[in-house]
Amino acid sequence: MNRVYLDHSATTPVDPDAVKEMLPFFTEKFGNASSLHGFGREAKNALEIARNQVAQLIGASPDEIIFTAGGTESDNIAIKGAALKNRSKGNHIITTKIEHPAVLETSRWLEKQGFAATYLPVQSDGIVSIDALRSAITDKTILVSIMHANNEIGTIQPIGEIGKICREKGILFHTDAVQSVGKIPVDVRKMNIDLLALSSHKIYGPKGIGALYVRKGVMLEPIIHGGGHEKGLRSSTENVPGIVGLGKACELAKARLGEDSARLKGMRDKIIKIVLSTIEESYLNGHAEKRLPHNAHFRFTGIEGESLLLKLDEKGIAVSTGSACSSKSLEPSHVLTSIGLNPVDSHGSLRVTLGRENTDEEVDYFLQILPEVVKELRAMSPLWEHRKDADKWKKMMEKR
Ligand SMILES: *Cc1c(COP(=O)(O)O)cnc(C)c1O
Repeated sequence: MNRVYLDHSATTPVDPDAVKEMLPFFTEKFGNASSLHGFGREAKNALEIARNQVAQLIGASPDEIIFTAGGTESDNIAIKGAALKNRSKGNHIITTKIEHPAVLETSRWLEKQGFAATYLPVQSDGIVSIDALRSAITDKTILVSIMHANNEIGTIQPIGEIGKICREKGILFHTDAVQSVGKIPVDVRKMNIDLLALSSHKIYGPKGIGALYVRKGVMLEPIIHGGGHEKGLRSSTENVPGIVGLGKACELAKARLGEDSARLKGMRDKIIKIVLSTIEESYLNGHAEKRLPHNAHFRFTGIEGESLLLKLDEKGIAVSTGSACSSKSLEPSHVLTSIGLNPVDSHGSLRVTLGRENTDEEVDYFLQILPEVVKELRAMSPLWEHRKDADKWKKMMEKR
């Protein structure tokens, strides 16, 4: 059976070139980067090469890059660190309703510690309003955290504009750029970003490794204490093979960014065009243009995304409904609720995220299978049968 992976926003395969770079660091080059002997220096050199590769991808300088255990940890170190450090200046932080749980749950934790948080709404296209941001800022605001691109609907926020406002007001600006780095251009200087989180496994690197950009001069309160690694912000012996893999993944992403994004966008646009034109009552979620080049997010009236996912899985096609982190829960996705979808429509949603190894043949296979599966599911769906019967529909909604 064909196996077609169309879930690259959940994770990506590790690029073979990155694997190759990593391998010696599991075996003969096993040194601890803090050791002063040759083994240690070898590991330390590898770290510094990787630090440079990460910095290059986002327009930072290498001494502004801290290695972490992933995107979640980077978000935690940045947000908690900035809030705790600046407590004497104010207790207010601003974020959005559509952040990844790594940011949302961190903000909620800060609220329990006595901070106040504003969760900005987004418009139906998934974009946060600049006016809403401006009016949320008070003289107590110490941090704004707004993601660059959304992991579900792929919407890209006006990060440059937001960075400029924060810089003018002297407020720290953090962005979760886990989904955007390596996919679309990111430049921390041009975008006035103070803190930026990225993750290796979303950009064809290994899992369990990430990085945090901390602009020169920005002070954070450490939340992990120990031997003082990574400028005291992330104590623990560095994961050298992981870091080497992340570095190589960043180098590859930089070299391939233009070519990859153009090719994926071509495939993505074909999928959107054919799905919307051949499947009745199908809709695109998120902004039509301001979206990641590899992301298509649909909703189909009258079917459950979960059933759709499982049927496609039977045909060897891997997609997602909601986000990977919340796919086990029956709650509708907070992102889809925030763009104004009702629970039934949210549950009828499907995320397709393309990647480097996908081929035109795979796209064609998906486009052949999807309409068949939608038809099959609708044929047995009371939601579909009664969709134009307002009373019955209302009753079905109430049962949920
Ligand atoms: C995947 C993801 C994270 C978490 O990254 P991990 O490396 O898995 O911890 C954070 N934010 C966004 C937007 C993501 O897509």
